[in-house]
Amino acid sequence: MRILKNGDLHVTVPLGYTKAELKAFLEQNQEWIRQARQNTFEREKRRQEFFSKLPLETREQGEEAYRRLQQMIPPLVEKYARLMNVKPGRICYKAMISQWGRCNVKNHDICFSAYLLLLPDWCVEHVVVHELAHLKEANHGASFHALMDTYFPRWREARKETIRISGMEE
Ligand SMILES: [Zn+2]
Repeated sequence: MRILKNGDLHVTVPLGYTKAELKAFLEQNQEWIRQARQNTFEREKRRQEFFSKLPLETREQGEEAYRRLQQMIPPLVEKYARLMNVKPGRICYKAMISQWGRCNVKNHDICFSAYLLLLPDWCVEHVVVHELAHLKEANHGASFHALMDTYFPRWREARKETIRISGMEE
């Protein structure tokens, strides 16, 4: 049973479950459902509040964000690319609200969310190292985590802090 972002409830039941059984099941879990729905709404509200701190509607706002990103991101990318011995491709920025970064493992291009401007420096650094680590390791497996341990030992903490501030993972 899970709650979607819009508050809808998705229930998976075994085959052969009757309508009456399902109804009883939902009644038994009423309180859990109410609470989970409430949490989902609150998390979504926090997310929206977070993203609205960086308005990107006008051309001026976009240009200003681009200027600040260009000051912040490329130096970090260069620093860690050297340390990690990887060759990133082109860097781009998008107003992504579901991912902090996206790495194309074929051509090594990396796209960063403009909303990184809303995170503390060390959390931004964590995202940069995470994306560069994908140039060595495509998946989030044990060897990926080993890379993170080596190049950004506080990655778990940074990840937690990022989720706490923004409601957004990855
Ligand atoms: Zn990743």
